[in-house]
Amino acid sequence: MPQVKAYAAAASDADLKEISIERRDLHDNDVKIDILYCGVCHSDIHAKLNDWGNAKYPIVPGHEIIGKVTQIGSNVSKYNLGDLVGVGCMVDSCQTCSACEEDMEMWCENGSTSTYNSKDKFLGGHTLGGYSTAIVVREEFVLSIPQNLDIKAVAPLLCAGITTYSPLKHWKVKKGDKVGIVGLGGLGHMGIKFAAAMGAETVMITTSEEKAKDAKRLGANSVIISKDSEQMKAHANSFDFILNTIPVGHDVNPYLALLKRDTTMCLVGAIEPLENIHGANLILRRKNLAGSLIGGIKETQEMLDFCGKHDIVSDVEMINMQEINTAFARVQGSDVKYRFVIDMESLKN
Ligand SMILES: [Zn+2]
Ligand SMILES: [Zn+2]
Repeated sequence: MPQVKAYAAAASDADLKEISIERRDLHDNDVKIDILYCGVCHSDIHAKLNDWGNAKYPIVPGHEIIGKVTQIGSNVSKYNLGDLVGVGCMVDSCQTCSACEEDMEMWCENGSTSTYNSKDKFLGGHTLGGYSTAIVVREEFVLSIPQNLDIKAVAPLLCAGITTYSPLKHWKVKKGDKVGIVGLGGLGHMGIKFAAAMGAETVMITTSEEKAKDAKRLGANSVIISKDSEQMKAHANSFDFILNTIPVGHDVNPYLALLKRDTTMCLVGAIEPLENIHGANLILRRKNLAGSLIGGIKETQEMLDFCGKHDIVSDVEMINMQEINTAFARVQGSDVKYRFVIDMESLKN
């Protein structure tokens, strides 16, 4: 079994450091990928810290993977040696349940396999992610990368990109709609870029005056400071859709007040309890509060193609693998614009 270098944490309170891991020998429909870049998602930190209670150690995080195909199984038809490809949050699913048949593998009724921290069907143990020099993935979960984009900055599209693109598409955001993006971090900055590219009147809703300028540079038409109740009141009942990227539990009521009758606010960040929701905020104008999780493989490819067409990538700061523990601390302090990406060359030498 081939061994590759990786970065892993041995426990929730341990730093990540270099280890050697196994990747499986190729099955007929497998693609082996030499990893060039891997984005650093906030989920990597939650998982390492066991914030969701399901961590398995050693944990090798990483689900925003860009690489080059170096080996293919005998039945692989979509990819050739040397192709630039991506892998996101999932590496397998049953492919036969109703969710899989409708291209929503993330909700596979038999459980999709996450890129890390899931049961490994082939090697036993658990899956190990993209903080490593190579990975083996079945071809159905491998994505094509548009040739015209800066591939370092494409890595975060595989999670932060699809997480924000999918709800904007699902709720049919179109030209002229007034769309609010709440929170300006890894997710929010992609939300602004997508909503603007879809032709929406894009409004950044943030607590921070400082972020206003950056939001406009990223494509927002205007900014609402959410702590300013006069500004919030001026925009009451005026939004066609709100994408809420705040990563922690918070009071959603002030944002619900911004929605028009019969429209939706979708949560993509806070996987934890919310403060009390006032029923009147939903009932009085038949408003909806919803959630969304990444997107299926077909939609992820559609998102990448959309990015190729509209020249959209993430704003990234490059790091070496050896700097990952500092990078985690900086993400926790919201000190990154807007995504760290690991140059995996640093682990190969
Ligand atoms: Zn992620
Ligand atoms: Zn399934």
